Amino acid sequence: MLENHLPTADLQAIDAEHHLHPFTDGDALNAKGARIIVKGEGVFVTDSEGHKIIDGMAGLWCINVGYGREELVDAASRQMRQLAFYNTFFQTSHVPALSLAKRLSELAPGNLNHVFFSGSGSDSNDTNIRMVRQYWALKGLPEKNIIIGRWNGYHGSTIGAGSVGGMKGIHAQGGLPIPNVAHIGQPDWWSEGDDMSPEEFGLARARELEAKILELGENRVAAFIAEPIQGAGGVIVPPDTYWPEIQRICDEYEILLIADEVICGFGRTGNWFGSQTVNIRPDLMTIAKGLTSGYVPMGASIVSDDVASVINSGGEFAHGYTYSGHPVAAAVALENLRILEEEGIIDRVRTTTAPYLKKKWESLSEHPMVGEARIAGMMASLALTPDKASRAKFASETGTVGYMCRERCFNNDLIMRHVGDRMIISPPLVISESEIDLLIDRAWQSIDETYNAVKSQGLWQAA
Ligand SMILES: *Cc1c(COP(=O)(O)O)cnc(C)c1O
Repeated sequence: MLENHLPTADLQAIDAEHHLHPFTDGDALNAKGARIIVKGEGVFVTDSEGHKIIDGMAGLWCINVGYGREELVDAASRQMRQLAFYNTFFQTSHVPALSLAKRLSELAPGNLNHVFFSGSGSDSNDTNIRMVRQYWALKGLPEKNIIIGRWNGYHGSTIGAGSVGGMKGIHAQGGLPIPNVAHIGQPDWWSEGDDMSPEEFGLARARELEAKILELGENRVAAFIAEPIQGAGGVIVPPDTYWPEIQRICDEYEILLIADEVICGFGRTGNWFGSQTVNIRPDLMTIAKGLTSGYVPMGASIVSDDVASVINSGGEFAHGYTYSGHPVAAAVALENLRILEEEGIIDRVRTTTAPYLKKKWESLSEHPMVGEARIAGMMASLALTPDKASRAKFASETGTVGYMCRERCFNNDLIMRHVGDRMIISPPLVISESEIDLLIDRAWQSIDETYNAVKSQGLWQAA
């Protein structure tokens, strides 16, 4: 394997010299050196120092069927031998792309029966932005072009996807957002719910969509985009009142609903799609990550009969990617979907492992530094707090304590990510009960070590 024989320090030096990392403070990383991951098997990864680490993040929310699946390797190599690449631009198609489009149409709920392929989640959301604007333009309403997203929502980091997303750090760099984008608040009761009950707060946050539509004008708003359950924003599980009200508002004002299923799709919440878990009827769905279990890059938009027929009726839709429907990616996706279905992985998540994880995860809230423990299927979060009763934030800069905890997790051979002072997991869907026990033991130990460090460093202070 390429340069794996070099000592870790040499690999880190090459990395520092030549490799620019995504969402990373480059100087800070290079001063310290990256952790080099060399192998993956099941729910574990191994680093260049030989640590076998339980991967609580499934890579980056994607390796749903686990690492090291020979079937996926074989699907890729078979397809590369047969037809490594062909485009789908000039009135051509190929068997992997059309077969995957059919399979996704069968799996997707309702009238979502048409697939536009891309290379990633970000690309697919750029496709969605262009598609919903073109949809209303073709219906004679070109002014109906504003897309409403949510603060702290994540839809990718291209200029379009980063704009409809609500991450202020992304907006601050490179001239985002694009015009005709608006945002409403996120349904994060723990941080923002004040004195409201979760149910009241869920309704209030949903009604911000209605207020925004009325402010901008119904004739100006094309679509609302949201993740059924926010992932990168900190695994924010909305109150039960939230989604039914959002659906009502989209219906009442004829606003297209884009469900960004990049994380929630393919079993993460215990159903094929998060839209089924939260019971909504999207007009477009964004998919990526779990579509191929991350073995090769691929994304797509699955759109309704209505959206597809309007787009198809409008002459050329001047949009596409060289790798739209890439045959190798499509072959891997088809095999991945076969594995998810034939091994009953999603059913097992829903009936067995997710309920087991829920019980264990919620027991972490017995720790004095853990506030709410939230979970939906196989995605979960913990709010770290110096005062549970008042749901206080730490006085230190947001993320200080979360980062300390993430570092301790890594040192205890657990990958658990932090978003600010929330800790999050999203393990491979194939995780077993005994592996869940291991994950929880290491999480408790890491939180406890962080707690002791927070106390001894004088950081146990509410803002
Ligand atoms: C990861 C993610 C994206 C972006 O996908 P990329 O493949 O990184 O471009 C979009 N939406 C959600 C919800 C995501 O989690």
